Amino acid sequence: MKLTVKPLKQKDAGRGLAAIDRVSMRELDLENGDYVVISGSGDGQAVARVWPGYPEDEGRGIVRIDGRLRQEAGVGIDDSVTIEKADVKPAKSVTVALPQNLRIRGDIGPLVRDKLSGQAVTEGQTVPFSLSFGPMASSGQSVPLKIASTSPDGTVVITDSTNIEMSETPAEQVGAAGDASAEGVPNVTYEDIGGLDDELDQVREMIELPMRHPELFQQLGIEPPKGVLLHGPPGTGKTLMAKAVANEIDAHFETISGPEIMSKYYGESEEQLREVFEEAEENAPAIIFIDELDSIAAKREEAGGDVERRVVAQLLSLMDGLEERGRVTVIAATNRLDDIDPALRRGGRFDREIEIGVPDKEGRKEILQVHTRGMPLEESVDLEHYATNTHGFVGADLESLAREGAMNALRRIRPDLDLESQEIDADVLESLQVTEDDFKEALKG
Ligand code: ADP
Repeated sequence: MKLTVKPLKQKDAGRGLAAIDRVSMRELDLENGDYVVISGSGDGQAVARVWPGYPEDEGRGIVRIDGRLRQEAGVGIDDSVTIEKADVKPAKSVTVALPQNLRIRGDIGPLVRDKLSGQAVTEGQTVPFSLSFGPMASSGQSVPLKIASTSPDGTVVITDSTNIEMSETPAEQVGAAGDASAEGVPNVTYEDIGGLDDELDQVREMIELPMRHPELFQQLGIEPPKGVLLHGPPGTGKTLMAKAVANEIDAHFETISGPEIMSKYYGESEEQLREVFEEAEENAPAIIFIDELDSIAAKREEAGGDVERRVVAQLLSLMDGLEERGRVTVIAATNRLDDIDPALRRGGRFDREIEIGVPDKEGRKEILQVHTRGMPLEESVDLEHYATNTHGFVGADLESLAREGAMNALRRIRPDLDLESQEIDADVLESLQVTEDDFKEALKG
């Protein structure tokens, strides 16, 4: 029996779960807490822990897994996968490696065990480990933790009695270099975006579908879009979305900053543009993201200048020159839609437009869930309350709120911190909790 892959809800990502609707669970003879191997049509595989699906999935034959598991299984949203019960043993011991620039004094074994408990891991795998602070962890982000070895071998489950050892060698030097996420591909997944489900669906239909199934478009005799224009206020997730799409389809990602190309590369703007397009075509499938398109391509009558005119002409010709099979797609963002040169909004260029608006309460809650996912949040912190009381906040504001909450927690324990040291104390890490007061303070900010 095949199931269809869908994303997890933001709050449930990062825990190695496969949420399968109950009807399908019964048909597959699975129980809550079983482990399963998920395989797509390629040779990728992911092992996950079964969890009853969301009520709305009932009877729809859906398995929800997060971006990391989708990547391991080599599948995308809406792909069919087979699910088989996995034979996994409890881990006696697991050696994990941290990234080089994260140095911890003392034993963080218990903390790692606590966070990864119940997850299935395999040697060589990279699993996200959330830390709400540290040199490389900002809110919502996690530290990539590498599984250096396991005992016994094979896929094992981390339990309360697993002995966690820290590897002497940093994660970067353990096993094959580069690993899952290839160079040039961002690692944002759909679960890192809150409140934009409909918009994501549209973007996926315009970009993911043609890139993954060009034959469908050929068959129908329609051309996939070359350019998609995302418009809306700053900080609402336009860049995030472009990165997530690139990551989900394993596409190479190139960024062009509108203002930068006009100023930093003054005199070489056209050349720069051309190089970026070349780079993308060489690395196709690829997505070129142009941020603040308005600063390059303001309406010509307003921009006036010769330089602007030439740069717009160059961009037009580069887009017209893109081959028509959808292997390179340009996503541009602007918060000044009306200022964009109409020549760019015509057929064959940025002819699809998606509005990315300010999130509503439900959206704000999802965004807060994304950015507190890795935090040791005290139970009393009611995200619903903060979603209600942040009318007008965009994603970037909510991220700051969450980060400020975490910073307040950090300030509380600051007397115990040796800020001179490059290392963080494991004990301090373990005692860290973000409380209701930390959040309240942050909102007053
Ligand atoms: P834009 O490109 O629309 O100006 P970005 O995508 O660069 O905004 O957002 C800036 C940051 O704010 C992101 O890196 C992310 O941390 C946060 N953010 C913005 N929108 C969202 C969202 N919808 N969900 C989760 N985080 C968001």
